[in-house]
Amino acid sequence: MPPLRYDALTPASDPIPPVLDQTSLLIAIGFSATALMLTLVITWLGARADRYLLSWGLGLGFVAPGSMLYGWFEAYDPAVQCIAFALLLAGFAFIYIGCTQFSSGRTPWRSALVAWGLACAMMSALFAVGLSGVGTIVMNIAASGFFLAAGREHWLARTNTPLAMLAKSALYGSTAVTFALCAVVLFAGGQWVLTERPHNWAEDLNSIALLASLAAAGAVTMALHQFRITEAHRHLAMTDALTGLLNRRALFSLAGDAPVAPATAVIMLDLDDFKAINDRFGHAIGDEVLVRFAAILSRALGPKDVAARLGGEEFCLLVHATSAAAVHALADGIRLEFAGTDPLPGDFGPPTVSAGIAIASPRPETFDALLRAADELLYRAKDAGRNRVHGPELRLAA
Ligand code: GH3
Ligand code: MG
Ligand code: MG
Repeated sequence: MPPLRYDALTPASDPIPPVLDQTSLLIAIGFSATALMLTLVITWLGARADRYLLSWGLGLGFVAPGSMLYGWFEAYDPAVQCIAFALLLAGFAFIYIGCTQFSSGRTPWRSALVAWGLACAMMSALFAVGLSGVGTIVMNIAASGFFLAAGREHWLARTNTPLAMLAKSALYGSTAVTFALCAVVLFAGGQWVLTERPHNWAEDLNSIALLASLAAAGAVTMALHQFRITEAHRHLAMTDALTGLLNRRALFSLAGDAPVAPATAVIMLDLDDFKAINDRFGHAIGDEVLVRFAAILSRALGPKDVAARLGGEEFCLLVHATSAAAVHALADGIRLEFAGTDPLPGDFGPPTVSAGIAIASPRPETFDALLRAADELLYRAKDAGRNRVHGPELRLAA
């Protein structure tokens, strides 16, 4: 018996399957969008202040049925096409809103609604008069516009997390280009009236770009969301809750164990008789005095200087010293401004502060050693009667 040949089993009439099956791609977009929508909405339920998660979720909630409706029916029905396009454009409009909320905190619902309404009105009118090809061109241009605007929002906000924002910007930008190409191919072919869903290389490219950009953008969005949560927690862990200055942990992690740069000055400050302020006026007034003092510190410092509350009524400044006299003048200016703030009620008199200053010498010196030296001078200022600045101690090279 002769060996059985494979082509003997394949009917000669079977068409060669296309490499890309657009219907399957469109349905895959629908399923992928549904899964992402559920992920985003569930994440939003746990973080309701992050409204961009809901907007993206809603966007995908429109893209899913729009894509399925567009891909499902092989027979060309202009009304079904028009409804599918309106759903897809609504989805893209929400994705644009989500991108803007994420990037700048704005909710551009008015401009998104107007753009969506205009595109749908034009598209429906064109489909109604039989110009389904022109209506499809309008849809592609509008979709390209929404993705371009979404990509632009991420591009403008790329400073914080450049890699993720640039990735999203590129994903949306390339999707915008593929929608524009679909319009160009229809236009170049003079396809003003369609009798079937357009099948061309631009449509295939567009389906792949949309599938990739929705899935990848969804994953990047979740990563960015997680990054923001981590950053917020890190910020809280590094900030003094009462004054908003850095806390002790933040100051020590900033200064590190390595030698500080020469001419770095450490100024230690401790409010005088603060316990008496608390005892006399209560803890709330004491807190207000601390906040007032922290505001004076923030105003006095340059952009590269650092102010931290070490705990209680103790503060530490890390500044670059142009000269010993300049650092002394800075600390004394803070002392005088604090004494000049609104007097406390009654005859208590103005609150005062004492300070000690140490400036790093050219030999390697740790922040810890400088801090101890400044602390020592601070306590000498206290012993000498308070409301004064001691130092700077110019630490000589060994
Ligand atoms: P000295 O001039 O020697 O520095 O005296 P002092 O009274 O300022 O210092 P002492 O260490 O005796 O008291 C510090 C007080 O600061 C005691 C504590 O109740 C108060 N304190 C610490 N943290 C806070 C805070 O967050 N808010 C308020 N209102 N008081 C605080
Ligand atoms: Mg004190
Ligand atoms: Mg103290």
